[in-house]
Amino acid sequence: MRTYPVARIDCQALTRNLQRVRALAPDSCVMAVIKANAYGHGASQVAAVLSESDAFAVARIDEAMELREAGIRHPLVVLEGAQCQQDIQIAANQAVSLVFHHYEQIRFLQHTHVETPLLTGWVMLETGMHRLGLPQDKARQALSQLHDCPKIDRVGIMSHFANADQPQHQLNKVQWQLTQRCALQGRYPISMANSAAILALPDSHAQWVRPGLMLYGISPFPDRTAMSIGLEPVMELVSRVMALQRLQTGDIVGYGGTWSAQHDSLIAIVDIGYGDGYSRQLSNQAKVVIRETLVPVVGRVSMDMIAVDVTDLPEIQIGDEVTLWGGPHLPVETVAQWAQTIAYELVCQVNSRVRREYING
Ligand SMILES: *Cc1c(COP(=O)(O)O)cnc(C)c1O
Repeated sequence: MRTYPVARIDCQALTRNLQRVRALAPDSCVMAVIKANAYGHGASQVAAVLSESDAFAVARIDEAMELREAGIRHPLVVLEGAQCQQDIQIAANQAVSLVFHHYEQIRFLQHTHVETPLLTGWVMLETGMHRLGLPQDKARQALSQLHDCPKIDRVGIMSHFANADQPQHQLNKVQWQLTQRCALQGRYPISMANSAAILALPDSHAQWVRPGLMLYGISPFPDRTAMSIGLEPVMELVSRVMALQRLQTGDIVGYGGTWSAQHDSLIAIVDIGYGDGYSRQLSNQAKVVIRETLVPVVGRVSMDMIAVDVTDLPEIQIGDEVTLWGGPHLPVETVAQWAQTIAYELVCQVNSRVRREYING
């Protein structure tokens, strides 16, 4: 039985996008970022498909544990590091590397007994984004402390660009120079580049790159399509027409009656809503694809349903497939513009109510 809605995940596209990372950064190891359920694509399945990655990165220790429970044995890195002492023990037992972005986390390490050492301790350096990270002097201190600590095998240095999607932005250079200075002429491996930096700031590739978005075939740049930078979209979000409504001039559609028919109209009700992660911001804004034709979403997005004006598609039938984004006609980047957000958010929001189907794998 095929049930809707479904997020179709193209495994071959995922693999090709990883190859694109390798081609762009041939001398770097790849830490594939699969936090937030692999940006909505399904973390353990994506990890299995991207088994050629050198490591996987997640945000939180719970995400790492879920991957271990799903049988993923790759090196894992927790980007937010330990929240408590117990996380240090869990990480050491499960071969999970940790980021240290705060001195409190180094104290957790000092006060915790571990049976086997942590694989890698990544010191997060604050270089201008003011999100996570230790300032220069503290970071240097942390690096040498971790370096001398028998509870850790290897030490690396990490930082994160605030504006990599604007390659010309002056902060990029400042952040990169501060990171390099801290790495003491290659004494410590560096990881700095996210997708946008992999694509546009090749000097910053260093020893480890950290692609997220580009693996999913999405462009990090507002003015460049995925195709133009050699990426293949991975997710197609699909549902079906569940009802048809014939409207007369003046009839309204949906909560609040924010849309009304200007002439006799045919409306298709489609089985997806904000309760699945299809943003309510798309009310009266988005288009969807039915029978290879773009048709507009009318009225408000409900929890479980949307309405679409299909007056120009008289041959439409209940059961017809509807593409909300992805496929050949509707990049998720375009839908993100309609929702006044970024594609990252749209794919992350696709929740567990939407079945995932893995194709070409
Ligand atoms: C999410 C994240 C990444 C991946 O960024 P993309 O823009 O998706 O490539 C890399 N590094 C850190 C620290 C992150 O939080």
